[in-house]
Amino acid sequence: MGVLEDLLSGVHAGRIELVDLTATLSERTPIIQLPEPFVNTPGFALEELSRYDDRGPAWYWNTIHTGEHVGTHFDAPVHWVTGRDGLDVAEIPLGHLIAPAVVVDMSAEVVADPDFLLEVAHLEAWQDEHGPLPDGGWLLYRTGWDARSDDAEAFLNADESGPHTPGMSVECARWLAEEAPIIGVGVETVGTDAGAAHSFDPPFPCHALLLGAGKYGLTQLQQLARLPATGSVLIAAPLPIAGGSGSPARVLALIPA
Ligand code: MN
Repeated sequence: MGVLEDLLSGVHAGRIELVDLTATLSERTPIIQLPEPFVNTPGFALEELSRYDDRGPAWYWNTIHTGEHVGTHFDAPVHWVTGRDGLDVAEIPLGHLIAPAVVVDMSAEVVADPDFLLEVAHLEAWQDEHGPLPDGGWLLYRTGWDARSDDAEAFLNADESGPHTPGMSVECARWLAEEAPIIGVGVETVGTDAGAAHSFDPPFPCHALLLGAGKYGLTQLQQLARLPATGSVLIAAPLPIAGGSGSPARVLALIPA
């Protein structure tokens, strides 16, 4: 058999499992909330054009309204000022949209501390157990935060001191940007940075350092618990918005059954 027949028979015979890592898009999809004076993104909304009625008797269709950074979405390098000369979302090489992925699971630590930060030492310990991070692949950072994704208040988890959601330290972001062979980081939270990252130096280090290094972000992923630590293949499909800084994306994982 050819390789593509092998792939299809693997999927259809159940030797390869498909896992949808994408959050459903609706008006309830949580969106990031920036403080004054910054402009916020609109959320997702449908506007009906016709539904088998006098506006279009045989057809149903909608206009979609959405920010680029809504729901499960892809951050292109040009999203951040440090990556302003980098790729926009339509320019991402196709070979980066299907790539190996590994999962580092810090969900137990995050239960104890919603402001938990991933450190280089955690990744070194992970590598001692599982081997090197994938060359040309994704680091998927599991925090258990996807359990909150149907409840915007719990998902954003903000109080008077700001949002409390897990992320990574400045040093960890620098190491992933400069030392690790990965193409990007995927997270379960509303953005790739910690809720408190506005106060870090530099602020929002995952954005500043990874996008500045030409790497990518994926946010609001779900079901990472179903993935093995190593050995899955990630398909990320952002819309090719010309000049766009990012896009809602369908993100699928292929895993060995
Ligand atoms: Mn984003």
